Amino acid sequence: MTKFQKFLRNHIMLVGMATVLVPLLSLLALQYWSLSELEETSTVADVVWRKNYLNDVSKEIKFFYRNNAEKVLNIPASSIENGVSPETFPFGKCSVDGAKRLFIATFDGKGGAEIIFYDPYDQSRTLKPPEDEVRTANMLVAPLRILNEEGRAMSGALTIEERDPENRVMFKPIINDEARVIGAAGMIIDKELFGKIYLPQTITTTLPRFFPSDKQDSIIVTVYDEKNQVVFSTQPIKGLDDESYVMAPLYSDWRIAIRSRHRTPAQWAAWNFKLNLTFSILMTVALLSGIILALRAAQRQMRLSQMKTDFVSNVSHELRTPLASIRVFGEFLKMGRVSDEDKIREYGEYIETESRRLTQLVNNILDFSRIESGRKTYDFSETDPSALVHSTLKTFDIQLKQRGFNVHVKEPQSPLPPVFVDGEAIGQVLINLLDNAIKYSGEAREIEIRLGHANGFVQVAVEDHGIGLTREDQQKVFDKFYRVCTGLVHETRGSGLGLALVKHIIEAHKGRVTLESEPGRGSTFTIHLPAKERTAEETSERKQERAAGEQLKIVGGI
Ligand code: ADP
Repeated sequence: MTKFQKFLRNHIMLVGMATVLVPLLSLLALQYWSLSELEETSTVADVVWRKNYLNDVSKEIKFFYRNNAEKVLNIPASSIENGVSPETFPFGKCSVDGAKRLFIATFDGKGGAEIIFYDPYDQSRTLKPPEDEVRTANMLVAPLRILNEEGRAMSGALTIEERDPENRVMFKPIINDEARVIGAAGMIIDKELFGKIYLPQTITTTLPRFFPSDKQDSIIVTVYDEKNQVVFSTQPIKGLDDESYVMAPLYSDWRIAIRSRHRTPAQWAAWNFKLNLTFSILMTVALLSGIILALRAAQRQMRLSQMKTDFVSNVSHELRTPLASIRVFGEFLKMGRVSDEDKIREYGEYIETESRRLTQLVNNILDFSRIESGRKTYDFSETDPSALVHSTLKTFDIQLKQRGFNVHVKEPQSPLPPVFVDGEAIGQVLINLLDNAIKYSGEAREIEIRLGHANGFVQVAVEDHGIGLTREDQQKVFDKFYRVCTGLVHETRGSGLGLALVKHIIEAHKGRVTLESEPGRGSTFTIHLPAKERTAEETSERKQERAAGEQLKIVGGI
């Protein structure tokens, strides 16, 4: 059982409460948080306010440029009727905000036109204007020149031309008294100045008019150019735009957009829905898991209580049978009815075997209770595994003989390293394994004990050729009280504690138990105990001892 499973089992109530309470409290906390955020959002999320704000920014910009253009480009026809003196600045002395170039075009009435460019900052003529600006001006002037040549009348209204996004122009035809166009004045808008200075200024100065200062942080205003790239944003962009507005008429392909740093009420509603749904699903899953866990725990408890009842009945029977035999043989001997020495020895042997079985049973129960209550202690000492096996086997001599079993012990050529164990506890492990091998051998009468050493572990395998175990039972036989409830096992009495003890004792020695079995062919239980490696000196001493022992045996044989 993993640590986690153990924890679950011991704290079932706590785990059950947590599986229900944690999702429930999280749901409540999230609800509270989302509602308070929603409340916060609603003040800055008012759609009308945001639309009004965007409209206002756009209007400000339009007003600024139109006002400037009207002031600067309002050139009377009389001042150009006799041609323009290139050296004098024809646009008056007022400041020309927002323009990067000014130009004035004059027509000679015969299809000819002259365009002169001026720098608005130092108010002087630009002798070599950039080619793209010349091209834009020519493009605008061309239709006016044709109208001039044809002598057609037209109005002198301010017009905006945005065909070249780098050189947007505001221009005004110059009309004489006969309503005939005789020239034109234009200003090419400074895109740098607009995007980097004028637009940000307008956006930030307009903000307080629409949003209280503590809410301005919750608003993000962004401007996108004709390529949909961000020109300016009041804060790092986060989320999606809530409203966007085209900045007509100048920069009509740019967009000004606004978004709330918080979600809009609609987004909140959608988010809330998803969140609630997810949590409801999670809670349902948690509740179902809780119910399944509780049911499984109840089922386990029922199984355990059934197992305990079986255990009590098995143990009572286990105690009664040997006690009855001991009493009967004891009575025979007491009454002196048996005079034959062989018979007396035989009865004595029965009494010894039965009392050994009783001792083993009582030892198992006592040890099990000590392990369960955490009181089991071990007394470790360096032990020779081979000697331990032989001394344990000795205690089985009579039983094996009575039941006609042959036990073969197979030892490796080289001496086994010692193990650091509690000899009594490991002896009890071997007794349990041997006892099982005898009990579940069926018709077979051969048992093999193999000793070995590999990968730093000493192995002791107990193999029988009896009834064997199915795969499913192999997983369960080490559980406390577990007994296979079919066939021979059903008739053979036992407590169901032996293998649980074996596993526990071996694990307490930092070893492990493995099982290979096949129904009808027998089982091999192998215990693996960490070897205490010998130094080279100890090994050679041990070899010598062994050789001397063998020599003695030969001498004895002679
Ligand atoms: P029990 O006192 O019943 O023998 P154990 O814990 O020693 O309890 O064994 C648990 C169960 O494992 C036994 O009831 C038996 O069904 C099965 N078992 C143990 N050893 C063997 C074996 N050598 N061959 C077949 N089955 C075995």
